[in-house]
Amino acid sequence: MSGGTSAERSALLRRHGLNVTAQRLAVLGAASEAPHSTADDIYHAVHADLGAISRQAVYDALAALTDRGILRRIQPAGSSARYEDRVGDNHHHLICRWCHRMVDVDCAVGATPCLTAADAAGYEVDEAEVTYWGRCPECQARPDDRQPSRPASVHTHHPTVI
Ligand SMILES: [Zn+2]
Ligand SMILES: [Zn+2]
Ligand SMILES: [Zn+2]
Repeated sequence: MSGGTSAERSALLRRHGLNVTAQRLAVLGAASEAPHSTADDIYHAVHADLGAISRQAVYDALAALTDRGILRRIQPAGSSARYEDRVGDNHHHLICRWCHRMVDVDCAVGATPCLTAADAAGYEVDEAEVTYWGRCPECQARPDDRQPSRPASVHTHHPTVI
């Protein structure tokens, strides 16, 4: 669903029962042009596009779009929430501990939950949050003595079922 014209975005908003506003169109456009943007990134993109818009209006638009499932909100541990318009599948993310670059990775299984809990303790599990943390190719290529901003020691080796 990435990209799309303003007319397609308007139709998408209407299909989800939202009024079409310049703010919502601009926020959706910004999230679709730069997937995995933070609310702050989106604010700056929309501000450059529309001029006067408050941060609160951007947050409100993001909340409305996320509530309706038009955008997906990803909340990586220890960093700001990111937004993307690739919704409706069970893809996961690779995140660089050094530069925070985030990229999509298809789910190997495809359906939720894609991991079986060792012991589900009687819960009906409907989702497993899978995030792959590591070092991106650019950071591997760069001689670097910085510490990763999210050290491996605070993270379990195995994805956690929440
Ligand atoms: Zn990196
Ligand atoms: Zn993604
Ligand atoms: Zn998966």
